[in-house]
Amino acid sequence: MGYEKSQELFNEAVDLLPGGVNSPVRAFNSVNIDPIYMEEGKGSKIYDVDGNEYIDYVLSWGPLILGHADDQVVGQLKEVLEKGTSFGANVEYENKLAKLVIDRVPSIEMVRMVNSGTEATMSALRLARGYTGRDKILKFEGNYHGHGDSLLIKAGSGVATLGLPDSPGVPASIAQNTITVPYNDQESVKYAFEEYGKDIAAVIVEPVSGNMGVVPPVNEFLSFLRDITEDNGSLLIFDEVMTGFRVGYNCAQGHFGVTPDLTCLGKVIGGGLPVGAYGGKREIMERIAPAGDIYQAGTLSGNPLAMAAGYETLNQLSDQSYEEINKKADRLIEGYKKAAEEYGVPLQVNRAGSMIGFFFTNEEVINFETAKSSDLEWFAEYYRLMAEQGIFLPPSQFEGMFLSTAHTDEDIEKTVHAAEQAFKQYKG
Ligand code: PMP
Repeated sequence: MGYEKSQELFNEAVDLLPGGVNSPVRAFNSVNIDPIYMEEGKGSKIYDVDGNEYIDYVLSWGPLILGHADDQVVGQLKEVLEKGTSFGANVEYENKLAKLVIDRVPSIEMVRMVNSGTEATMSALRLARGYTGRDKILKFEGNYHGHGDSLLIKAGSGVATLGLPDSPGVPASIAQNTITVPYNDQESVKYAFEEYGKDIAAVIVEPVSGNMGVVPPVNEFLSFLRDITEDNGSLLIFDEVMTGFRVGYNCAQGHFGVTPDLTCLGKVIGGGLPVGAYGGKREIMERIAPAGDIYQAGTLSGNPLAMAAGYETLNQLSDQSYEEINKKADRLIEGYKKAAEEYGVPLQVNRAGSMIGFFFTNEEVINFETAKSSDLEWFAEYYRLMAEQGIFLPPSQFEGMFLSTAHTDEDIEKTVHAAEQAFKQYKG
């Protein structure tokens, strides 16, 4: 496989864009290769500018649950596009998408559309703070909620720590209002509530974590969070930007049967266009301007193209679609496990529906600490070996893989075969 044109474009980009990219993970830093420039996608396949074909398990980092360039989505987008791209005024598609979201997401009685997952979480936090009149929030180590100041916080030392800025530019005064505890750790959450309970506006959590690889909740963690927030007058926010309409028809909250007060959405809800949303109980959502006094706005929010892409995507998904994708995920996992056993590769598999986390470690992965036990050097090697065989994976051990309705049995077979070839090279 040649990468000359990608290389040329990247050489040009490093002078134009910081790090040559518009979002950090695209720099492929953790797998030590230069970025591949993509040109086209159809179904489960993606094609780079040098004409290489890949089976795609990145799917634009999750949104493309129907695969690339789905006919129905593209067809509707063309129709909408002909009539204009944005009006800064209401369009019917906003209602259509809102109705669909309200119908499927158990916690959502009203919804506000925004333009990204980051915007959704930032806005949900403001709403939670405004609604409760409290300032502190509690989040989990290894959960990512976009790059808003309050959420770009790393843990200090200790079980339940007030945060430190995770990046220059995040004021310490803001970080102090964010408490960070390990994921799946009920004792630390209890301790945080004992210390700061009256000041905690909200607990925000990825109901299945997808940003330290895939780490599902264990031991009724979500219902524990539901109870403790309720007991302390705090709101529970599910960040379903990744899990929403990905792990099931009714999102992670439907899957686990735990209903939060507020839910953040992104990725699949935009069908590949820039969309985010947050929603929840009517009583809380009606505090948002102009219905209420908590301000949040957006020039391009709810624009017709984004709403159409989201609606036409969600509208094609049924319970059966999820069953089918999950069956393909089952086969992929089975193949990986078999190959790992055969070639002595340490492998832990975490999954929620068609969100899959393969970790190269013998330790069970239940939080960020255990995820970090993975063999990152081998991951980089494995990544390169898979790419060479036409399998496009997220370029980090700490990102999940996604499947789409467009992936075929043949795709799965080819991928398992490629993994076998890669695992053969494992030196231990
Ligand atoms: N929350 C979660 C759970 C995410 O996975 C992401 C993005 N990967 C975000 C929020 C931020 O979304 P965006 O990149 O659209 O701002």
